[in-house]
Amino acid sequence: MLSEVNFKEIIDCVKIPLIALKPVYDGKTIKDFQVLYTNPELIKSIADVHAGEYFVQAESKIENGKHWFEMAVQAITSKELFAETYYSETRKVWFSFEIQTADPELLVATFTDITAKVRYTEQLQLSLVTDTLTTLPNRYQFYKRFQDVIKHADETSTKFGLISFDLDNLKQLNDSKGQQAGDRLLIKAARIFKSFENGNINVYRFGGDEFIVVAENLTTSDSLYTISDAILEALNAENVNASGGISVYPDNTTESEDLVKFADLAMHDAKKTGKNRIFMFTPELQKEFLRRMMYKTKMPDAFERGEFELFFQPQFDIASSELRGFEALLRWNQPEVGRISPEEFIPVAEESGFINILGAWVLKKAFTCQKKWEEKFDYHGVMSVNASPVQLMDESFLFTLDEVAALSGVDPTHVEIEVTEGVLIDDTEKAVAVLDEVKRRGFRISLDDFGTGYSSLRYLQILPLTTLKIDKSFIQSITESDGVSENITNSIISMVTKMGLDTIAEGVEKVDQLKILQELNCKTVQGFLRGKPMSQSAIEEYLSGNKNALDCISE
Ligand code: C2E
Ligand code: CA
Ligand code: CA
Repeated sequence: MLSEVNFKEIIDCVKIPLIALKPVYDGKTIKDFQVLYTNPELIKSIADVHAGEYFVQAESKIENGKHWFEMAVQAITSKELFAETYYSETRKVWFSFEIQTADPELLVATFTDITAKVRYTEQLQLSLVTDTLTTLPNRYQFYKRFQDVIKHADETSTKFGLISFDLDNLKQLNDSKGQQAGDRLLIKAARIFKSFENGNINVYRFGGDEFIVVAENLTTSDSLYTISDAILEALNAENVNASGGISVYPDNTTESEDLVKFADLAMHDAKKTGKNRIFMFTPELQKEFLRRMMYKTKMPDAFERGEFELFFQPQFDIASSELRGFEALLRWNQPEVGRISPEEFIPVAEESGFINILGAWVLKKAFTCQKKWEEKFDYHGVMSVNASPVQLMDESFLFTLDEVAALSGVDPTHVEIEVTEGVLIDDTEKAVAVLDEVKRRGFRISLDDFGTGYSSLRYLQILPLTTLKIDKSFIQSITESDGVSENITNSIISMVTKMGLDTIAEGVEKVDQLKILQELNCKTVQGFLRGKPMSQSAIEEYLSGNKNALDCISE
């Protein structure tokens, strides 16, 4: 029976420090508490210290300035549970201090050790804001602290800079030496970045191969050059190459999102201009940024109004001089600024996703022309159509391709889809799977701009290619006396020909270039020398028999 149980014995077994108190009244007000009982756990953990010591300690640590005495009084009068968390400096332990009434004459307070729970929560929070591989704070943490950094700069009238770093060869290393080698590079880079940290400089891993350095308390933006140069030098000293971009608060903008974007733009500019260097965000880049914004907003309406047009550039067999086919090249005829180059608007369309609509239109237009020319002009060439990585990786790509092929009635073996190595960057497996599907349908696949990207031989093996296009940068230096470009082009052509692929030399502008290409057994030529990109009507004029309709450089 319960009444026969010795309650004290039960409570003595409780492994949480516990204290029972009785209010001492002066009239109707409580003036003190008398300790009725302390359990062995409490005595054990406080050793010789009087139980009241717990309250004294609790009292000094409890947040909100809540006095334990007031808490106890409130607990008695309201009959509610009061709980506070506090840290004991002396014991290095976190406690949950709870106090509640059993009856109007009795209060029970417990001191539960919650250190493990607190540490776990801390760990969890840390893992959310920390990159596990490099132990650097992550992008989330960056944005969390960003508003404070801005506030501090405003309050102290100082500047701060963002230096956005992007490792130059991580992807290539991952592909050639494996993920672990890539991880080692990231860890090494992180260690070097970290060595620059001090009260004013903080580093974050932004994701992938991107790091962001925040340098605060600056009076002039010039010191950002010194800092970023020193970092790049340290990286280079350990064989890490990186490109960087700098943006300055408040000089460039006071908008936090834009500041990150601007540093990124400068970084991409550094990457484009040869890598392993650092660029400061400039008014020119700002102008470019605004122009791109303008393109982005204007593109959909322009498309509806029919401002986009497809041009076609002829390709010729070098040995026989016969027409091999055409590459479809997109143009934007903008009424205010004139004709905009695809090199300018395609990246914007990729960013906004509009490339999917634009790309589908290009496919449809190119396929329809191909079919029409075959029927009308007894034409037997190949139509090359560029597909952007964004477009190719979109779920709708194969569906669009099938639909457009069926609608136009084109024979897929008469069409070549041109891709760049960029398609392999994010998800190599998926890209290869999509291209395998394209190939399975009978389409030809060509690797564009070979020689400008990673030009990894592995890509040549894993992609289901039929054709390789040697980039114009090689062709343009092919006649140089040092013979470097010629040698490289020679090895590319002989290797690729052995693999059974067609070779197309791009950007051929001079007879000398063509002669060398012929000696190197390059199969096909595409360039201003033999024909510039032309409108559909000009091509139709040419196909109908007017050889003078070709627009080419006459030497
Ligand atoms: P690309 O695919 O490498 O296209 C070849 C570019 O080289 C074309 O520039 C062409 O006009 C130019 N070119 C051809 N022969 C010569 C030459 O002898 N000398 C010089 N200097 N240039 C020559 P374009 O038409 O301005 O296109 C630029 C880039 O825009 C293309 O490079 C391609 O990456 C992209 N692009 C064009 N149309 C489309 C499209 O429909 N879809 C996608 N995704 N990208 C496209
Ligand atoms: Ca192309
Ligand atoms: Ca090309």
